[in-house]
This record gives sequence, structure tokens and C-alpha cells, in this order.
Amino acid sequence: MEKTLVLIKPDAFGKNHAGDILKIYEDAGFKILAAKVMKMTPALAAKHYVEHIGRPYYPALVEFMTSAPIMAAVLAGDDVIKKVRALNGATNPAEAAEGTVRKLFAADKTKNAVHASDSEASAAREIPIFFSACEIFD
Ligand code: ADP
Ligand code: MG
Repeated sequence: MEKTLVLIKPDAFGKNHAGDILKIYEDAGFKILAAKVMKMTPALAAKHYVEHIGRPYYPALVEFMTSAPIMAAVLAGDDVIKKVRALNGATNPAEAAEGTVRKLFAADKTKNAVHASDSEASAAREIPIFFSACEIFD
């Protein structure tokens, strides 16, 4: 079964939207294989967001992601990578479609509520950053 990594970012988690967001994924038929509330350190952010290091928004992104708890989850299901990104909506919430997680819960381009892996390669790289094999029953 295809898997993806989701992060509920500090903005959405802090506003108590973790349950609302997980419900959107569960209602779409996806299974939660693993989930935890955790602290993202600058080192963890650098590992996860390695391709963004050096971009103008990177310092603000790390500041935001390490500012308060996040929730990390692994979701599974048919075509879950593409479908969860569609449920999340565009990176910029101003451009996100009605009913998407980012339209519902995100404030701006940095504080945009959620992360989801963008390809099979990304999911395979990102999931082990947050979860060990014994934390995922698959
Ligand atoms: P996505 O999360 O939709 O896959 P990206 O991989 O392009 O988007 O960017 C990773 C994260 O970096 C975004 O979710 C957002 O928090 C932040 N980000 C990306 N581009 C910008 C930008 N131009 N200005 C501010 N923050 C940005
Ligand atoms: Mg991305």
C-alpha cells in the first residue's frame, strides 16, 4: 500500500485542528499507520527541508516549524501521495481550492497548516526521518 508523510504544522496544531485535518484524510478512505506529537529541531528541519536550504524563505520556515509542537503522521492508501496533496491544496492558501485543508486552516505561504510528501521518492526519504520501522505497522 502506498504511504505518505504528513506534518500538521505548528499553526494548525496549535489551533486544535489536528483532529479536523486527520478526519479529512480518514473520510477520504486513508488509514493512519503512525502518528505522534513532537518537537521539530533546527537539525530535523534541515534534514526534512534539505532542498529548501538557501531559499529566501528558509530561515522563516525553520523559525516557524520549530516554534511549537507539530504532529507527524504516516498515511496509507491507494494513490495516497497525490490525493493527500490534493486534499491539502496549493502551497499558498490564497490559491488553495475551497474545502482544502489549506483553504480551511492556513494563514499564509509559510504558515500553511500541513506538509505532505510530493512523490514516492520523497515519501521514502521523509518517513524514516520521523518514524522508525517499529513505529509503523504495515
Ligand atoms: P509544499 O509544502 O506545498 O510541498 P514547497 O515544498 O514548495 O511546498 O515548500 C515547503 C514549505 O516551505 C511550504 O509548505 C511553505 O511552508 C514554505 N514555503 C515555500 N515557498 C515559500 C515562499 N515563497 N514563501 C514563504 N514560505 C514558503
Ligand atoms: Mg514540498
